[in-house]
Amino acid sequence: MMITAKEYKGKNVAVLGLGKSGIATVKSLAEVGANIFAWDDNSEIFSKLDKTKYKIFNLEQLDFKNISSLVLSPGIPLNFPKPHPVVERAKIAGCEVIGDFELFFRSKLKANFIGITGTNGKSTTTSLITHILKYRSIEVQAGGNIGTPVLSLDKIDTDGFYVLEISSYQLDLSSNISLDISVLLNIQPDHLDRHGSIENYYKIKKKIFESRKKNSLGVIGIDDFYSEKIYKDLKNKNRLIVPISTKKEISGGVYVIDGIIYDSRFNYKIDIKNIHNLRGRHNWQNAAAAYIVAKKIGLSNDTIKSAFMSFKGLPHRLELVYKDGQIEYINDSKATNVYATSYALKSFKSIIWILGGRSKDEKIDYLFPYLSRVEHVFTIGESGEILAKQLHGKVKVDFVSSLENAFCKSINFIKISKLKKSVILFSPACSSFDQFKNFEDRGEKFRDMVFKYVGASHD
Ligand code: ADP
Repeated sequence: MMITAKEYKGKNVAVLGLGKSGIATVKSLAEVGANIFAWDDNSEIFSKLDKTKYKIFNLEQLDFKNISSLVLSPGIPLNFPKPHPVVERAKIAGCEVIGDFELFFRSKLKANFIGITGTNGKSTTTSLITHILKYRSIEVQAGGNIGTPVLSLDKIDTDGFYVLEISSYQLDLSSNISLDISVLLNIQPDHLDRHGSIENYYKIKKKIFESRKKNSLGVIGIDDFYSEKIYKDLKNKNRLIVPISTKKEISGGVYVIDGIIYDSRFNYKIDIKNIHNLRGRHNWQNAAAAYIVAKKIGLSNDTIKSAFMSFKGLPHRLELVYKDGQIEYINDSKATNVYATSYALKSFKSIIWILGGRSKDEKIDYLFPYLSRVEHVFTIGESGEILAKQLHGKVKVDFVSSLENAFCKSINFIKISKLKKSVILFSPACSSFDQFKNFEDRGEKFRDMVFKYVGASHD
């Protein structure tokens, strides 16, 4: 059963972008009897769709005067680098431009809502919170920017929980996001091309805290400049908010030092040092956020710790693909920016690092402080040559073009240099679109290579 906003019955609605969330939007609107005009710039998609419930209509030719809303896919530019021509057309006609999250909240469901945003760690934290709630047998539906689009989630009872991963694009397309618990993990200058400036990105991320619910709780990582600024703003407005740090002790908040979560509010602590799937300082931030959410829901420390211990982690995020004696093969294909990769480099020593792809023009010098942990770098993809030049003289580095090449050279390097304990780390710090379909495809190719060349079997 889909989630529907009844107010759209009989209304004219335009939907631009017919990927996973666009199709869910069309189905949801069709169910309430809206009159739908749907379009995608990629016309190949149309042949795959059931057209009985809506009209395929080139929205660049639609008169938006009588259209209630334009529902835009989060992948399509709303404002930056410049609005899509259809968005401009809608705005000139005074038609609102919204996303699927807005429809979700207009459906006026009665349940509990938890939303998670941030530059990095959204999916991990969403999955961890979902896992903890399920572990305690609480009814949960999880989705949004990860997995199932929000409108395809099932309806749940009033005491159940929706756990929603929300990207900045989705926040930008919403004005009614109203959560019981809002989590902002961190803000790093990623995706700036799509948000104009860091100030604008900051403003969008802050929207996650605009709840209309009474007693709503904010949870916020304050280890970066912009998140700390939001925290201070909200505190001044007397919002109920719990800060998180993985760098320093904070009174009234939760902090993690050497793998131990300290809750200064109740004098509690939980040791997560040896939990494999929560290793690394970045995961401590995610775990601290999940801990605060679980506490708010009333779970005990013992339950939270046992749930942490049974968390499987997510594929493509510091995923241990295989351990062959003293050599670990780590797939971190999801690391598409230097900030995510910095956490990977911090998590290991004696690293053979495979880096590169489509660059987002971030500064690789951000990673220089961690090069002492790296034995050799093999760079690949569109940005590989430039990256190799930038790293030249600071660490052993070769540009080898393809991932497969890099993988074979890495194995060879370990053999020749007789390294005993080492890690082949695929953490590209770049997007995947130069050589792969997406980061999942890229990570799976890496995983396949481990099985092909190292001989491990799938289990
Ligand atoms: P998102 O859904 O926000 O893209 P993921 O949980 O999928 O985040 O993780 C993306 C990448 O960021 C992975 O490489 C992961 O190791 C790294 N990462 C995870 N959590 C954090 C965090 N709290 N801070 C920084 N990097 C993180």
